[in-house]
Amino acid sequence: MGWEIYTHDIADCPCGQGKIAREHHSPDNPWSSSHESVEISCTICEKSWQVSYGGSELVERASRNASREAEKAYEKSMNSISDYLNSILSEYPLPSFKTQKEEFAYLTQAGLYDGKIGQYRYARRDAEMADIAVVRIDSLIVPKLIGKVGNADSYNALLLQSQAAKKNAADKALAVKTIKIPSK
Ligand SMILES: [Zn+2]
Repeated sequence: MGWEIYTHDIADCPCGQGKIAREHHSPDNPWSSSHESVEISCTICEKSWQVSYGGSELVERASRNASREAEKAYEKSMNSISDYLNSILSEYPLPSFKTQKEEFAYLTQAGLYDGKIGQYRYARRDAEMADIAVVRIDSLIVPKLIGKVGNADSYNALLLQSQAAKKNAADKALAVKTIKIPSK
């Protein structure tokens, strides 16, 4: 079995020296179905542009990569905040309770645990309450945690850094250059 490929040009490439072409792949057997793909036939443009998944647009590689990097930097800044919060959580005096059910209720309310009671009891078999607690950026306990055992300046610096990284990621996402590919 084989494929018949029929190509036709649908647009000029971005630099104007080549073409964007649509390839129709038709099978010579009844059990495969035909499909289409879009190709950049220009040695210059194929280096700096890529056909998007689905073939509806060309995406410029450099601005797309810059956007991915900015997104990664933002994730990293969020991780730095969680790391900081969890590093100070170990110094925070958690209250003690008579039952695991009360511990669970306290941790859940403080935003330090988001599993089910059964999971908590299971985890508690070989760990202390403090070892199970994990603080998230949006946990209710965060202001108290910073107030009691944290350093407000360090925490605010991390927040500012993350806000800037978020803004940069949004800007870079908007700056990704694309060109719509004609559908025919
Ligand atoms: Zn070109």
